[in-house]
Amino acid sequence: MKFSDLTTIGIGGELSKYNICNDGFSLLDYTYEYYLNNLLDSGYKTNSKEYKELLPVIVGDGSNLLPPDGQFDKQVFVNKAADITIFDDSFNVESGCMLEDMIDKLIDNGVFAFTALSGIPGTVGGAIVQNAGAYGSEISDYLIEISIFDFKKGKYIELSKNQLKFDYRYSKIKNDPSILVLSARFNINKNFELPSRLTDIFGAKSPKTASDFNNLKDLIIAERAKKSMIYEITDINSHGCGSFFKNPVVPLELIEDNEIFENIPSYEVADPKSIKLSAAALIEQSDLPKGFTLNGRAGLSHNHTLAIVNFGGATRADVDELCEHIKKQVFEKFNVSLEEEVVRL
Ligand SMILES: Cc1cc2nc3c(=O)[nH]c(=O)nc-3n(C[C@H](O)[C@H](O)[C@H](O)COP(=O)(O)OP(=O)(O)OC[C@H]3O[C@@H](n4cnc5c(N)ncnc54)[C@H](O)[C@@H]3O)c2cc1C
Repeated sequence: MKFSDLTTIGIGGELSKYNICNDGFSLLDYTYEYYLNNLLDSGYKTNSKEYKELLPVIVGDGSNLLPPDGQFDKQVFVNKAADITIFDDSFNVESGCMLEDMIDKLIDNGVFAFTALSGIPGTVGGAIVQNAGAYGSEISDYLIEISIFDFKKGKYIELSKNQLKFDYRYSKIKNDPSILVLSARFNINKNFELPSRLTDIFGAKSPKTASDFNNLKDLIIAERAKKSMIYEITDINSHGCGSFFKNPVVPLELIEDNEIFENIPSYEVADPKSIKLSAAALIEQSDLPKGFTLNGRAGLSHNHTLAIVNFGGATRADVDELCEHIKKQVFEKFNVSLEEEVVRL
């Protein structure tokens, strides 16, 4: 198996050790056995470089992952544990459940608060790690707690939403390979309000029934597909990791009275002294139009400036080169540093 078979960007070399965990039991079994055989008596301190090298990599849907080109020697667990149990006021979902399957099942059961996340590829585990979101809604909105296995402590632990310190495309466990998310418990919020960005965009007339929300879901998916933000094997412009960069939050004084930012859309954030800028606009106005490529293999999607995609035969080195080029160009023009959203291995 090659890592490129597991990633939506189609990048990554041969895997030397991997297990596919098809359900919750195999996920627990394989990972605990790995802990016992490789980590517990390794003799390394848990914060040492050597211990970190031994930590496994958990792959969900591989839609936010950028692995290296060469042979990958760390242990990989591919998580397909996908059970959902719905209670009166909450539901439990295993971390390998695809977001779209969770949303479908919830809509069928009269739970509509997650519809805005329709069309985001990936598993629930990957979404929590990254606090995935769209249209003003985030996976963390109704999260109560998660169950994890901590490969440093060798323990199963529950972490509450507060402990995860969620922020824009961030959680405390992002880029922490010692944490395996096993499952999550969410609140069922029957009185939720559709995010205003969704009502603005779709003019949704207060959908109420499962059929209304299925229609809304279809509209969202159609809207996303126009931007190649639905992963489709036949759509080369979707063969990326979604948004490669975050919308940067900068000091308000940087843009005030600065005409260079005149045509850059901006959004308020909690801190009144800061402002969030559209990364897509910054890139496009740095002479990097949709479809831009340095060598024809990796380039900006023809349908979305924020997505770096594999046009065919791209390597990690191609993506890295393009990424650096974009960052440099944006910095030179706007004095703004772009931060990446993707997870690099
Ligand atoms: C076409 C396209 C559109 C996209 N649109 C959006 C969007 O609108 N909004 C958005 O937020 N994102 C978007 N993304 C990015 C991506 O889909 C999300 O970040 C998604 O949540 C990643 O989930 P995954 O299962 O694929 O994670 P992976 O890519 O498999 O993993 C990502 C990281 O999470 C870790 N991880 C995964 N599962 C677990 C687990 N169970 N326990 C511990 N760690 C784990 C991995 O080790 C890795 O560090 C898009 C991607 C594509 C390709």
